[in-house]
Amino acid sequence: MKKRILVVDDDNMNLARTKTILSKEYDVLLAESGIQALETLKYMKVDMVLLDIDMPEMDGLETFERMKGIASEIPVFFLTASGLEEDVISAIKLGAVNYLKKPFRPQELLKRVAQEFEKQ
Ligand SMILES: [Mg+2]
Repeated sequence: MKKRILVVDDDNMNLARTKTILSKEYDVLLAESGIQALETLKYMKVDMVLLDIDMPEMDGLETFERMKGIASEIPVFFLTASGLEEDVISAIKLGAVNYLKKPFRPQELLKRVAQEFEKQ
């Protein structure tokens, strides 16, 4: 069975692009907000989350904190735009070791995701 990846980003272009890249190998779910991501995680089995940091209302860091109560064992990749290194440092302090800078190249995304699944 295909692994399922939840992509969370407030930018619809990013969601569409990331889905296009990942869909060949994975089952991809999309969420436009942290709230929507948390709802999805309550009723769907998800194997990995790609989580944008910069989102209105609930940012990726807060979403990650709240995820711990629902799905703490799922690996998370934070997605961050260049120039927002402070976000990455905050994410690492929260216990996330994976992050990808946007815009990422398709091959880079596929490689990083595959490497993370191989660890399991
Ligand atoms: Mg964003």
